[in-house]
Amino acid sequence: MNVKQNLEEINNNINKSLESVENDTRPNVIAVTKYVTIERAKEAYDAGIRNFGENRLEGFKAKKEALPDDAIMHFIGTLQSRKVKEVVDDIDYLHALDRKSLAKEINKRATRPVNCFVQINVSGEESKHGIALNDVNDFIEMLSQYENIRVVGLMTMAPFTEDEAQIRQVFKQLREKRDEINKLNLEYAPCTELSMGMSNDYEIATEEGATYVRIGTKLVGKEE
Ligand SMILES: *Cc1c(COP(=O)(O)O)cnc(C)c1O
Repeated sequence: MNVKQNLEEINNNINKSLESVENDTRPNVIAVTKYVTIERAKEAYDAGIRNFGENRLEGFKAKKEALPDDAIMHFIGTLQSRKVKEVVDDIDYLHALDRKSLAKEINKRATRPVNCFVQINVSGEESKHGIALNDVNDFIEMLSQYENIRVVGLMTMAPFTEDEAQIRQVFKQLREKRDEINKLNLEYAPCTELSMGMSNDYEIATEEGATYVRIGTKLVGKEE
C-alpha cells in the first residue's frame, strides 16, 4: 500500500472514532519513519504529512536534512544527555522528557525554549520509561527553574496488552492528568497536548482525546 492510501484509511478511522464519542479534537498524525528509508519519508511528505517522528539520533538527523523545511520534527525516543547538544536546536517537539538530568542538559544547550512532552509511565510497567503518575506534579513544578523547557503536554505508551479496556483506561488517566496540569495555568507549562496512540491503538487514543498520534507501521510501513 502506498502512504496516501494508508493515510486515507487512517483518516477515515479517525473520523469514525470521533463520531463515536463526544469529542471533536482531531489528532495530528505524526508519521513515525524510524523503520523506513528517506524515500519513504518523502512519499509521506508528498501525501500531505508534515509531522515526522524518529527515535534515534542518526535517523532523526537524516530525515531532518532530507525533508523540506516545513516538516515538523518530533524526537520520540529516549534522548541520551550527552547527545543533546547535537540535536536540540533541530527538535520541534521532544516527546520523551523523563528525567531531571535531561531537562538540565536541554536547558543548558538549547538556544531557545524547546517544546517538550513529559513522558508518563501510566501503566507502571517496569520496562517502560517515564514519570510515575503520582510524581508528575512535582516533576513539572521542578521544571520551572529551566527557562528553555516548555511543557506543551504529556505523552505515554500504552501497556503491552490486547485488553482494550485497559489501554483506554491508561489514555483516560493521561488526559485527566493533562487537564489537571493545564488548569494550573503555568506559563512555562501550558500543557494542552496529548501524545498517545500508535498503529494498534490510535483509534482508542483518538476517542480519549489525543492531539498527536504517532503512527509508523500502519502509515509508512516497516522495512525488515
Ligand atoms: C516506534 C514508535 C511508534 C510507532 O509505532 P508503530 O506501532 O509502528 O505505529 C510510536 N511511538 C514511539 C515512541 C515509538 O518508538
